[in-house]
Amino acid sequence: MTYSNIPNTVKSVVIVGGGSAGWMAAAALSKVLGTQNCDITLIESDQIGTVSVGEATIPQIQLFNRILEVDEKEFLEFTQATFKLGIEFVDWRKKDHSYMHPFGAYGTNIEALPFHHYWLKMQQEGGGQDLSKYSLAAVAAYQNKFMHPQPQQNSPLARINYAYHFDATLYAKFLSNYSIKKGVKRIVGKVVDVGLKAENGFIKEVFLEDKQCISGDLFIDCSGFKGLLIEQALKTGFDDWSHFLPCNRAVAVPCDPTQDLKPYTQSIAQDVGWRWRIPLQHRVGNGYVYASDFISDAEAKEVLLKGLESEPIADINILRWTTGMRKKSWNKNCIAIGLSAGFVEPLESTGLHLIQSAIAKLMTLFPTKQFHQCDIDMFNQQTEKEYQRIRDFIVLHYKVTERDDSPFWDYCRNMSIPSTLQQKIEMYQETGRIFRQDDELFNETSWLAVMQGQGIQPKSYHPLVDRLPVSEIERRLRNIESVIQNSADIMPGHHEYIKKHCML
Ligand SMILES: Cc1cc2nc3c(=O)[nH]c(=O)nc-3n(C[C@H](O)[C@H](O)[C@H](O)COP(=O)(O)OP(=O)(O)OC[C@H]3O[C@@H](n4cnc5c(N)ncnc54)[C@H](O)[C@@H]3O)c2cc1C
Repeated sequence: MTYSNIPNTVKSVVIVGGGSAGWMAAAALSKVLGTQNCDITLIESDQIGTVSVGEATIPQIQLFNRILEVDEKEFLEFTQATFKLGIEFVDWRKKDHSYMHPFGAYGTNIEALPFHHYWLKMQQEGGGQDLSKYSLAAVAAYQNKFMHPQPQQNSPLARINYAYHFDATLYAKFLSNYSIKKGVKRIVGKVVDVGLKAENGFIKEVFLEDKQCISGDLFIDCSGFKGLLIEQALKTGFDDWSHFLPCNRAVAVPCDPTQDLKPYTQSIAQDVGWRWRIPLQHRVGNGYVYASDFISDAEAKEVLLKGLESEPIADINILRWTTGMRKKSWNKNCIAIGLSAGFVEPLESTGLHLIQSAIAKLMTLFPTKQFHQCDIDMFNQQTEKEYQRIRDFIVLHYKVTERDDSPFWDYCRNMSIPSTLQQKIEMYQETGRIFRQDDELFNETSWLAVMQGQGIQPKSYHPLVDRLPVSEIERRLRNIESVIQNSADIMPGHHEYIKKHCML
């Protein structure tokens, strides 16, 4: 017996939606499950657009592309991608202040203790450099440099950690070509109705405007914010997090580049919300994320246009959402992936990662037609924890700020926050300790970068740091700083590197 003739196995998967989520799901399923074992159909509407943003990623996207066995050069060329070493946060802590959230560690453990405890001690002693000087990603980013990791080197160059900026529409197209080659059936049509089974409320079929009826065993809802299947048909419910994250709209527009190709995203805080700048090979993606309680759409467009470095090269795209997540991402035989599952605003570029992570969980817990409730519960528990931890990390940026120059920042400084975040902040404030919990996405480096960048000054550091004399700590920190600077000196310019190594 093989998969395709075992009676209980899922034989047809229907994906509704052809944005990044739909095509990422189709590509991964066609690679791992295979269309010879199971029919995979993707339905997308040419009347309803995709959000077409989602241009900045985090390093985990490399793993997704590796699973698909995508050729990196081909991918970079097709999607007009550039490399990303981190995010620069400008004016977040206060005006005229900036810091980098880099990918990759600060320094290295010393005597089995995390580097930052020694750095904290030196800060208290009035020594040590800015934290970013101990991160190769940050130093290289500020110098507009990039190269792939050099595993043969016994230096930080061996561990360069990177992600991409790319054109989200082109990425979906790239994955669409990939999936169709692997046998995914694409249907262009608008879903107008959903048929449920009378006996258990599972989805039986979807009906298209042209009267086609598409039935399936497993349905993946990638229909975007509205959640056509998970919410409109199955009434799953939504946890609204607007209290913690009041930004609920964005206006976005590309323009031509006028600056060197930066290997990092910029997030520039505004009186209400923040603007992004994402450099691609052929254009710069710009957006302004704001809270409609504090600024009108017309004013937001003005802020966006005023911040552009050159004339816009397309119409302004406006996006509206409620921050939060579905009460269950997997309900009956329907799994919501992408914006239909929830959205925690784009500040830390987590949207595509959450899609990738949902696909990975689906593979691990891939059902039979019995749809065991224990699998569904596990998927939902893991998804909930993951979204909540990401939410906490993003709330940190808004809550811990010295900005008091607008009603928006007054609201953020004074809002109540989740107890899980409160606990993390208090621990860092008191002891300088940071713990990664429940396999959360953001590691100690990320929390350190943002807690320190936003201005939390711990009262103490790990007591065992005092085993080393100050002069020795100072020597080691100087050494780390110079190793990092020497490594960055070897790296070529980002633009030059892309031209030389990443174009076919
Ligand atoms: C302002 C903003 C900035 C973002 N920035 C980033 C970022 O920098 N990095 C990142 O990782 N993520 C980012 N994201 C998130 C990222 O854009 C999304 O996670 C990603 O695009 C996935 O979207 P989607 O495919 O779920 O939905 P959509 O792109 O909305 O696609 C929905 C699809 O469903 C189809 N559809 C809808 N209704 C029907 C119907 N009735 N019949 C048939 N088809 C239908 C549509 O045609 C479309 O193909 C951002 C999101 C926003 C809003």
